[in-house]
Amino acid sequence: MQLTRRDATRILLGAAAGFSASPAALAKDAAEEQLRTQVCVVGGGSGGIGAALAAARAGADVVLLERESILGGTSTCAWVHSWEPVSGADGIPRELYESMKEDPLAVTYPDYGEGAMRRGGRGLPFEPRALNYAAREMLEATGRCRVLLGTTYFRARRENDRIVAVEAWFAGKRLSIAADVFIDGTADGDLSVDVGCDFHIGEDPKSRYGEPTAPEEAGLHLNGLTLCYRIADTGVQQKPYLPKGVEEGICRKPVHIVEMANGDLLLNPVGMIDGNAIVQTEYSELMREAHRRVLEHFYWLQRLPADDDSRWTRHVRGKGFATWAIVGVAPRIGVRETRRILGDYVLNEKDCQAGVSGQGHNDIIAISDHAVDIHGSKGRLYEVPNGPYGVPYRCLLPRGVENLMIASRAASFSHIAASSCRLSRTMMTLGQAAGNAAALAVGHRVALRQVDIGQLQSALKSQGVAVST
Ligand SMILES: Cc1cc2nc3c(=O)[nH]c(=O)nc-3n(C[C@H](O)[C@H](O)[C@H](O)COP(=O)(O)OP(=O)(O)OC[C@H]3O[C@@H](n4cnc5c(N)ncnc54)[C@H](O)[C@@H]3O)c2cc1C
Repeated sequence: MQLTRRDATRILLGAAAGFSASPAALAKDAAEEQLRTQVCVVGGGSGGIGAALAAARAGADVVLLERESILGGTSTCAWVHSWEPVSGADGIPRELYESMKEDPLAVTYPDYGEGAMRRGGRGLPFEPRALNYAAREMLEATGRCRVLLGTTYFRARRENDRIVAVEAWFAGKRLSIAADVFIDGTADGDLSVDVGCDFHIGEDPKSRYGEPTAPEEAGLHLNGLTLCYRIADTGVQQKPYLPKGVEEGICRKPVHIVEMANGDLLLNPVGMIDGNAIVQTEYSELMREAHRRVLEHFYWLQRLPADDDSRWTRHVRGKGFATWAIVGVAPRIGVRETRRILGDYVLNEKDCQAGVSGQGHNDIIAISDHAVDIHGSKGRLYEVPNGPYGVPYRCLLPRGVENLMIASRAASFSHIAASSCRLSRTMMTLGQAAGNAAALAVGHRVALRQVDIGQLQSALKSQGVAVST
């Protein structure tokens, strides 16, 4: 959104004069601004960035809505700023990484290396600001993408089997964005559900997809939640601190630690909060509890003996954490799982186990080889047995709506499959496929379901995305 000089003058004069608006003036200010575009992407996280960038590069006019003030979603706002090893990450994620690393303190490892989990690929920590900056610059360079930050989508208008427009708030102004194609990158599938798409949440019973390790009965059992935090070495002894009323032992103690380029450590206390809390507990209560657990978690680390040789102390071997201090806590809790929208195909555990050649799908648009990694009371972890498996294009197409795609962890996956393929770079690659498909649909004036799959796959291959092994 651009402020006109008149708007800016009015605001400045108003502020100087202690301006307070009358209800009538406020109502006038809330008047709709109508935008029209070819592709509207709702949500600027991993999937949304990939979608907006790919669609704009492929020649479509794009509007990208994001409620936060930076792009990156879970990676930047929940501080999950480390990409785990996974195959198929050679398109937009690699470009972003190459751009990020121009900033000397942005990435820990200058070499992007090989993504593949099974061939010993490594995690890639980066600074959240760097991802936001690189994504903004790359989107700007397309000359076709209008990024609306601080803009919260709140409802959609549907006519028959099409979405006509979405509506969003920005600073008291209601925007209406009409488009030919909409891409839901909200992670929770909010846009898709608003327009009536069906979804599942939690564990699928074995009867649903015949998955080998699925339980007989459906259950909620969402993947665990984590509030990530960051610590730095102050060089001087710190007094361990546990606030009054916070009991020792309230936070489970596994922790995944990665080292940032400036020497800080990013901590992801895996299993911090039961995943069901995201749908069963008021968010502010959940955040309060998560902050208590962060403090208790760090109190445990601070008091580990200097000669502790467990894997938690790998980064501070022989010194312990006695001189370290918390330098920040993520502004948002990390959510691994909520709704999964039902699409034309539901990726499931049998796909993850079959590997690309065993799947027999001819519309694969992304691959992954990450382990099935379910966090929580019914958690389990196992490597996919037959190498990378593919995600079909049909997983991006919600049933019942013609001009909508999903590019986020809310895509059409089973609970088990989502626990393998939800990684940021895989979501970005799904976005890349969705953006290309949207541009093809708009360019050829065809429906999303009529997009030429061969053409889509060729476009993706030319952009570095693997669609086969
Ligand atoms: C604790 C934790 C650890 C993880 N560890 C790793 C890891 O080590 N490596 C890895 O690769 N992956 C990891 N993952 C998984 C990965 O981070 C996520 O699955 C992935 O980032 C999700 O991407 P997304 O695009 O689906 O959603 P997000 O990145 O969350 O993007 C959704 C976006 O939509 C926006 N949005 C939502 N509603 C609205 C609205 N109404 N209006 C406007 N905007 C809206 C949000 O603000 C957000 O920016 C982890 C996840 C968690 C929670």
